[in-house]
Amino acid sequence: MTNTKPVIGVLALQGAVMPHKQHIESCGAEFRTVKTAKDIEDADAYILPGGESTTMLKLIDNFGLWDVLNDNFAKKPVWGICAGSILMAQTVTNPAQKSFGLLPMTVQRNGYGRQLDSHHTEINGYTVSLIRAPVITEIANDVEILASYDDTPVWVQKGNKMASTFHPELTMEYPSPMHKAFIDLL
Ligand code: GLN
Repeated sequence: MTNTKPVIGVLALQGAVMPHKQHIESCGAEFRTVKTAKDIEDADAYILPGGESTTMLKLIDNFGLWDVLNDNFAKKPVWGICAGSILMAQTVTNPAQKSFGLLPMTVQRNGYGRQLDSHHTEINGYTVSLIRAPVITEIANDVEILASYDDTPVWVQKGNKMASTFHPELTMEYPSPMHKAFIDLL
């Protein structure tokens, strides 16, 4: 029997990778970690997880994965979470760094400052974590804002590209509404 489940590849160079497994599987999709060019080619959609965007960029460069990621991101759905949303932005500040430019928005790294360093909040009735999250400081009119926190967009989408500055995967109610929304894009 052929496997008809969509394969969701979670970029597994660094960061919160495994917590996505149950969310993805409870949506009826296949969870796979992706680390090599072949893994990347074989996935139907990608999650860029939360973690440390600078470390991920360094590893993407070290392993020579930039071009294969860039080519596949152009064709398939991508969801960036926190550090992943930084990798997806058009422009990154505090400080400036390289990014794939998949969504026309500017993000300021660690933008909530020390006081709001890390905490939980509810987005659409679901508990999520903001962990040294970036702030979306500018966003193009054609990007849909799916949720805001503190008057700032925290969950956005344009076509098959989605970003959230919070982590929904650390809450143990499966699947999160955000995973469902992402897999519905396929
Ligand atoms: N502060 C991290 C960065 O700039 C993101 C934190 C996260 O992904 N939870 O990459």
